[in-house]
Amino acid sequence: MTTHNAAGKIRVDKDKGAGLSDIDGIPLRIVTHPQAKRLRLRYDYARQQAILTLPPGVTTAQAQPFLDQYHHWLHEQHSSMPQPTPFLPGARIPLGGTPHQLHHHPDRPARLILEEPCIQVGGPITGFEKRVENGLKRLCRTRIEALVSRMAMTLNVQHGRITLRDTHSRWGSCSAKGHLSFSWRIIMAPPQVMEYLVAHEVSHLKELNHSKAFWGHVDHLIDHRQASRKWLKTHGHGLFTYGVPITKPGLLSPKF
Ligand SMILES: [Zn+2]
Repeated sequence: MTTHNAAGKIRVDKDKGAGLSDIDGIPLRIVTHPQAKRLRLRYDYARQQAILTLPPGVTTAQAQPFLDQYHHWLHEQHSSMPQPTPFLPGARIPLGGTPHQLHHHPDRPARLILEEPCIQVGGPITGFEKRVENGLKRLCRTRIEALVSRMAMTLNVQHGRITLRDTHSRWGSCSAKGHLSFSWRIIMAPPQVMEYLVAHEVSHLKELNHSKAFWGHVDHLIDHRQASRKWLKTHGHGLFTYGVPITKPGLLSPKF
């Protein structure tokens, strides 16, 4: 891997074409992607690091002007994010948009019990984080399934399998076969936002596009589309700072 110190900003000291460096104190991961056609810079909010993707054959030195150009943007991203919140005893995490504190009870059954405004987690400390995540996924599934049934009935459509994922490119999707998938992290958002997401995907069972007719179905199901979309745009990435680290949904790289 090329080392480039000319601007005193980039220092690459790993092998295999991928490495962790830093750019003015912001951790920078550099990866070479065989399919990449252009330089790409994004900010991983969960890991609080920048990721620079190079097309094959492009060196970090060649990427320097590009990095310089987005230097300011990178600093803005880095300084605007809350610290990551792992699922650990005492942590406050949003559930349905409201903060809930995680409490550990080693003597209680190894599962998650919702006792508003707290989340009680039984079992040993080992596996605590995973247990919280699984418990939240279960809650998410229950709520999403109820919404899907109700909305599918309203639009008089059949739906396929419902899958929960931890995607970072999209909050939900609907396949041509009618299978629906959702990000489990939406359980942390206000209930209306989850409703919007379900209304969106269920409406795709009628229209597999974003036509006027499609939005007509969404608006038939809910009356807060604009507000919920705005919430996702403004606060959605914050949901990726909780629990197991993952990059936030992708729209979030700068437009080149
Ligand atoms: Zn859509």
